[in-house]
Amino acid sequence: MSKLTGITFFALVFLAGCSTTPPQSPLDWSETNAVVKPVVIQTNKPVAPSAHTNSTVAVHTNPPPVIVPKPAPAPPVVTWTSLENWATEHKTGKPHRITDSPTTTYAIASTNGVMVLGIGSLGATWNGIEINLGFAPEFIDGELFLNGLDLKKNLEPLLCAPPLTFSTNRIIVIDPGHGGSNTGTHSVLDGHFEKEFTLDWAKRLKPMLETNGWTVFLTRTSDVYVTNADRVTFAETHHADLFISLHFNAPGNNDEKANGLETYCITPTGMPSTLTRTFADPWYENLPNNHFDAQNLQLAVRVQSSLLRAIGMEDRGVRRSRFDTVLRGQNRPAILIEGGYLSNPAEAKLIESADYRQKLAEALAAALK
Ligand SMILES: [Zn+2]
Repeated sequence: MSKLTGITFFALVFLAGCSTTPPQSPLDWSETNAVVKPVVIQTNKPVAPSAHTNSTVAVHTNPPPVIVPKPAPAPPVVTWTSLENWATEHKTGKPHRITDSPTTTYAIASTNGVMVLGIGSLGATWNGIEINLGFAPEFIDGELFLNGLDLKKNLEPLLCAPPLTFSTNRIIVIDPGHGGSNTGTHSVLDGHFEKEFTLDWAKRLKPMLETNGWTVFLTRTSDVYVTNADRVTFAETHHADLFISLHFNAPGNNDEKANGLETYCITPTGMPSTLTRTFADPWYENLPNNHFDAQNLQLAVRVQSSLLRAIGMEDRGVRRSRFDTVLRGQNRPAILIEGGYLSNPAEAKLIESADYRQKLAEALAAALK
């Protein structure tokens, strides 16, 4: 995303908030050595109601209700920090330019691993796994700059934080996606439903996790309908330390070529999502699960990496979204895995094989050891 589109993005989301109030005190995402970019603030003009010309529409003589707009939250101050200065401050290795083609690309390493970033690109990799930044890195005065939110929410958890560890006797809720009348998507080969394959994956996974010391609860153990809200409540009442939702994929446009594996976690507040589908993407939402941004990302990269190693599928990356209602309200680290495309004939054939689902279960159990 260019500087201009970045600024435009904030102007647009601010407009979407329908506010006429001035910005309040900025949220504190600033870093030392930060460059503060201006945020374009615009206000909505009132729109005149259109007149009903259809004579069958009843004429209302009462005055229209007065709508008092809710004050929108303040747009974030967009700060950009020199990656070299950040690296010194956080005691990681210095960023190194590794190529100029097709885009200028840098690598930055710590004892945890290596991140590769491209100028002008939202895509990045962490130890070879695709991840997604919220804002594309930029050159400012000949130096590589990153958005402060990416430094805090993407680089710090991966490069600086101690790796995720799991003690024994911990509780995990595994959520086989869909169930009952909520069938999920279906196999392009023979119409078998996603809900059947997610339940089988979960049932294979449960004893493996138990062997590794986890106490495991499944949100459903048969073909029953469970609301997303009940799945969140289930994790809460079982005092889960971790929540993992299992799904298989299909694109909105039924493109049979879409393929690969992806893992989702909630978008950090202030950051645009990787995927929005047809939903709004309110950057200002501070969701319960945002308390676990760092662990969510660490868990997601670990799981995505383990699954890819086991099944050798296309890496569609660790992605951020806000609309997954099974994740939004979770008071614990939580991720959602899409274990391949049922709309893709080759992947549907794999997903329909017990051997593939066994591999998925083994790889997920291995990631949680
Ligand atoms: Zn699904």
